[in-house]
Amino acid sequence: MTLNKLGVHALVFSGGTTPSEVDYAIAQTKAAGYDILELSLHDAQNLDAPAARAALEEAGLDVVCSRGLAFDADVSSEDLEVVARGAALLQSSLQVTHDLGGTILTGALYSAFGNFGRALTPAGRSNAVSVLKDLAVEAQGKGMTLGLEICNRYETNVINTAAQALALADDIGEDNVMIHLDSYHMNIEEDDFVRPFQLVGDRLGYVHIGENHRGYLGSGHIDFTSFFHAMADIDYTGGITFESFSSTVVSPTLSNDLSIWRNLWNDGPALARHAHSFITNALEGTRVYS
Ligand code: MN
Repeated sequence: MTLNKLGVHALVFSGGTTPSEVDYAIAQTKAAGYDILELSLHDAQNLDAPAARAALEEAGLDVVCSRGLAFDADVSSEDLEVVARGAALLQSSLQVTHDLGGTILTGALYSAFGNFGRALTPAGRSNAVSVLKDLAVEAQGKGMTLGLEICNRYETNVINTAAQALALADDIGEDNVMIHLDSYHMNIEEDDFVRPFQLVGDRLGYVHIGENHRGYLGSGHIDFTSFFHAMADIDYTGGITFESFSSTVVSPTLSNDLSIWRNLWNDGPALARHAHSFITNALEGTRVYS
């Protein structure tokens, strides 16, 4: 029995979110047995939210939206014009998520997505806290939750560990801000796959599963036995979404931000079916003795 809803990132199937790309991602997500489709909002200008919502409902799928910010629209900047553009991007992303029928907006909501080449400043951090507090209050009014996805040092300078994410969430100080762990980033930054789950506990609201090279689950060296047991030990019942990227499916923007330069697979639907089975089996394995 699987308690957690399982999801897959749309970039396993489609590089953007035009109506035909969304329809294809929905059909393949459903065919592979998932409950959730995660849509990155990097291509929101091409997204027809009402049509996508209708198609998601028709397929019986939940939607989770994710994104990072940009260097000219970054709430962790010291430049208030850059911060304002980041805040506007977050506001429109919250609205699009709501229009899609989603209740979770997550990702690197706190900064641009990329290699900063310098450390976060106290003023920049304070700007991020202030913007995210306002966004969380607005989200609360819509019955929505914000996720702080902990990303590695090459993608953000704001939060790289669970401890840093908890401190940021504490400073934001709103109950509808949760922590989002990702095995790919944990592998780079954390001591192990157990302590972060223990530390975050019931503040964990979303999980990404990815291999160390973001390819097929089980083909790399991530210790998924520890990862899944640690998640089970805190009785996590939220969504678990598979993330994988290859130069086979390219987004003109997101693939570059994620440094996807090579082919790790050629067949997204086959990859998605394999991951669903891998995660289902791993979850079942944690429940053998319970
Ligand atoms: Mn992730």
